[in-house]
Amino acid sequence: MRVVLASNNAKKLIELQALLGGLGLELVPQSHLGIAEAEEPHDSFIENALAKARHAARASGGPALADDSGLCVDALGGEPGVHSAVFAPAPALEGDREMRRAAQDAANNERLLDRLQGVSQRRARFVSVLVALRHAFDPEPLVAMGRWEGEILEAPRGQGGFGYDPLVYIPALGRSVAELDAATKNAHSHRALAAQRLRELMREVWGRG
Ligand code: IMP
Repeated sequence: MRVVLASNNAKKLIELQALLGGLGLELVPQSHLGIAEAEEPHDSFIENALAKARHAARASGGPALADDSGLCVDALGGEPGVHSAVFAPAPALEGDREMRRAAQDAANNERLLDRLQGVSQRRARFVSVLVALRHAFDPEPLVAMGRWEGEILEAPRGQGGFGYDPLVYIPALGRSVAELDAATKNAHSHRALAAQRLRELMREVWGRG
């Protein structure tokens, strides 16, 4: 079954293809079909993921899959939340997409440390929501959520991963996310947990796999 992926992020496509393997799904990024990115105006991951999946299903006329994710910090009332990618203003920088993304990540991390200066309650979690629709009018979207509990460090640790990984310490593993190898991150992460749940739902409700 061909499923339109409401994302143009190549890394995410590879990750989701691996995590959802064996279900007979062919994930096609929406940009390959000339579908523009949807607006993400909502305050929660689930609302944004649903809006993105609905948009892709409408535009393609077939099944669609979307994800939305970010970091929620308890002491900040859940911020940066749905604004995780752009928590800090975009740094003025020339360069390719990866360089700009790395500079934005560094600025976001700096802002997070600033906002938590002197704050001792540093509980936080990564959240990922995946939504799948069989068609544009599907009244029964599959919704899968994954959460990964951590604590915000006082200073970055580790070189791996992306985004907030160097600032998120996972007590259960005794390391920051940026100190984990890719296989360990992919075995425990919020996205892995959401994908695992989505696989179960696709089996139960869609009869896949
Ligand atoms: P996206 O919309 O799923 O691409 O992610 C939104 C933002 O949340 C990213 O730009 C990161 O800042 C943050 N984020 C989501 N997942 C992760 C993760 O696994 N590690 C670090 N940051 C993440």
